[in-house]
Amino acid sequence: MGGVASSIRYIGEANKLMDITVGVRVERNKSKVGVSTVPSCPYDHKDMRFIAGSGYKKRKKNERTYRCPARHRIILLSSANGEWRGWM
Ligand SMILES: [Zn+2]
Repeated sequence: MGGVASSIRYIGEANKLMDITVGVRVERNKSKVGVSTVPSCPYDHKDMRFIAGSGYKKRKKNERTYRCPARHRIILLSSANGEWRGWM
């Protein structure tokens, strides 16, 4: 079972990406308490993994960078209440 799934809208500035949503599912963490978010790459639909300590600009608390095996990179932005606001 994949857990809760949702899709996230693009909120960046590239017009060609406007219609692309990123599918996200939530998986229970096997090794520790909690859940992890697993986005599906908008370019090739592979599972993406969280990368700690990277980003296009200075890291903000509400930005999380993810990368797929083909090295595509996206940033997921969340709002103050923890809901996903969009990707870019
Ligand atoms: Zn990819």
